[in-house]
Amino acid sequence: MALPPHVSSSDFASALAAWRQAVGKDWVFTSDADVALYRDAYSPYWGEPEERLASAAVAPASLEEVQAVVRTANQYRVPLYPISTGRNLAYGGSAPVYSGSVVLDLKRMNRVLEVNERNAYALVEPGVSYFDLYDHITKAGLDVWIDPPDPGWGSVIGNALDGGAGWTANPFRDHFGAHCGMEVVLASGEVVRTGMGALPNSKSWQHNRWGYGPWVDGLFRQSNFGIVTKMGFYLMPRPESYVMGTATSMRDEDIVPMLDVLNRLENEHVVNGSTQIFGGGPGGPPGPGGAAPLWSIQAPIYGPEAVVRAQIEHAKAKFTAIPGVKFEVGELLRTPLTAAALARVRQVNFGVPNLSTFSMLGRSPVNPNPDGGHIGFSPIVPRTGESLLEFKRFYAENLSKVSGGENLGVVGPVYMTCWDRTLVCLIMFPIGRDKIKNAKMRRAFEGWVHLAAERGWAEYRAPAAFQDLIASTYSYNNHALLRLRESIKDAVDPNGILSAGRYGVWPKHLRKA
Ligand SMILES: Cc1cc2nc3c(=O)[nH]c(=O)nc-3n(C[C@H](O)[C@H](O)[C@H](O)COP(=O)(O)OP(=O)(O)OC[C@H]3O[C@@H](n4cnc5c(N)ncnc54)[C@H](O)[C@@H]3O)c2cc1C
Repeated sequence: MALPPHVSSSDFASALAAWRQAVGKDWVFTSDADVALYRDAYSPYWGEPEERLASAAVAPASLEEVQAVVRTANQYRVPLYPISTGRNLAYGGSAPVYSGSVVLDLKRMNRVLEVNERNAYALVEPGVSYFDLYDHITKAGLDVWIDPPDPGWGSVIGNALDGGAGWTANPFRDHFGAHCGMEVVLASGEVVRTGMGALPNSKSWQHNRWGYGPWVDGLFRQSNFGIVTKMGFYLMPRPESYVMGTATSMRDEDIVPMLDVLNRLENEHVVNGSTQIFGGGPGGPPGPGGAAPLWSIQAPIYGPEAVVRAQIEHAKAKFTAIPGVKFEVGELLRTPLTAAALARVRQVNFGVPNLSTFSMLGRSPVNPNPDGGHIGFSPIVPRTGESLLEFKRFYAENLSKVSGGENLGVVGPVYMTCWDRTLVCLIMFPIGRDKIKNAKMRRAFEGWVHLAAERGWAEYRAPAAFQDLIASTYSYNNHALLRLRESIKDAVDPNGILSAGRYGVWPKHLRKA
């Protein structure tokens, strides 16, 4: 068994004994076989000394047990790494950012505490997965939808805390943005409820997110300032219908007016679904008549049928006002979908969690020897056609240089418009068990981070191995933002026991000069 860094073997033994007392001996994991389950299957350092590894894991079942675990960790200065379901594949899996940390596995805290159909919200614990919440709602016959990300096995809380996104309508797709109220255990073991939840016997915790006074919830997103033990989320009242329109063009420059139209339609909330941009090369969907369009924008709309029909006609009029742009209106689907309809749609767009996304990485005739995993560099660029074309040129001009003249199988750019007003230009790197290939991917990843930063573009969410590097690009005014975060870290977690290094924030004793 590995020891956490800076912890003596006798102190670690005492901590483990106290945790066994607190959570039961079956829920403290120290054997190599058990701890190996917390490795990151997509680690770009798999099998190398730099791979981030846990020393042990502990799985409390209640708020009080979390508090007890944290107090012991503070006493013996044992670094903890809280996870919810720990399926953070592509961003570190369930492995800690700081090697030797003890994973605080919250999967046993898996109660759906409330689903309120009338006001469309849920209150859940960290171990509740999208599958769990969907099952709960389905069994209870409630008329609300969840917003799943592609993999349905993740945690509603864990995904939101890492800055995740789903695929139904705005504003539910921005998972942190759609939360309302949290319960957080601080490094001291103290419990805080945010927003209206700070009122004893609050009746409106999930009805108003701001509460009174400075809003602190944002401190717990992509951070290491606390352990979230409950969180409220807005749910989407089941929409009556859905329709998707697809705008296509054969000319590269048309993406400029097309994106302007899309932005306006989204900012006016005429188009509320998860829009997607395909094209700029091979890979886009075939256009009408079989000819492949250069650009193709999918614009889905959810809502009452009469409203949706008017909205899609409006969208069509706006897109087709651009000379040469065509707009095809797809089938209008009424919900709940029939089984036959559900079988031919992308289910996450209809609030149905599943794992079909993993087929993308699996063995197939086109990819007979898959690497097994991937990581992504996803810089945010302004949501304009000019910026998108600039990124497209930037990618084409630098790909060979960044890849050392080799074809590494890097995929990009994928243009993502998952959030309001945001354009993400994703570059995906296959990751497997081949150390030489992984090293080339890491070099390429780092190369893109530096080149993008020179243009004023940076990542919104990062694999653990690159979190420091990316934090270092947010360096305005001599890293003032990082220094502010470090000051908060020192105040709320003076012994630095929680998620050291997460998103580049290290406790004082581990900070580089
Ligand atoms: C093929 C593929 C497709 C994907 N598609 C999507 C997608 O559509 N959308 C998307 O968002 N992601 C996607 N991902 C990324 C990722 O798999 C999901 O975001 C997944 O939901 C994250 O894992 P999780 O929910 O188990 O969170 P966890 O692993 O439990 O949590 C993530 C991190 O948040 C912190 N954390 C978690 N819980 C707590 C807590 N209670 N208190 C304090 N800190 C905590 C920890 O640092 C943890 O490492 C995809 C990945 C792959 C491989």
